[in-house]
Amino acid sequence: MKINAKELVEAACRARLSAYAPYSSFSVGAAILCSDGKIYEGCNIENSSFTPTCCAERVAIFKAISEGRRDFIAVAVVGGKIGAEEWEFCYPCGVCRQVLAEFCDKDTPVFIGNSRGEIDETTLGELIPYTFKLKKN
Ligand SMILES: [Zn+2]
Repeated sequence: MKINAKELVEAACRARLSAYAPYSSFSVGAAILCSDGKIYEGCNIENSSFTPTCCAERVAIFKAISEGRRDFIAVAVVGGKIGAEEWEFCYPCGVCRQVLAEFCDKDTPVFIGNSRGEIDETTLGELIPYTFKLKKN
């Protein structure tokens, strides 16, 4: 299946609108693409107790996994200050990189978008070259 980076980044931008981020005022959206074209979206969800806060990437992948999906072929992430007209590339945190590595292979493309419509394409293997894993893939 052809991967459309722009479409996946747009899905992440849509998801970002649902972010619950009253503490950081930093909203993030993520989208993860399955092999049949289905896209799962996620946003960051903060909590006054901080520890239960969950990143957009994990929300998206956990939604997909909870619906029986494991066939991920690409990921997109966008983020920035709420209300800001300009926002730069926002890369997944270390925890999310490890979670993505559990279910995606190292060649999975990761698209990072900014407010100028630019897309930085990297791979999960570049973001997290050494992972903790039970099995190698
Ligand atoms: Zn994260």
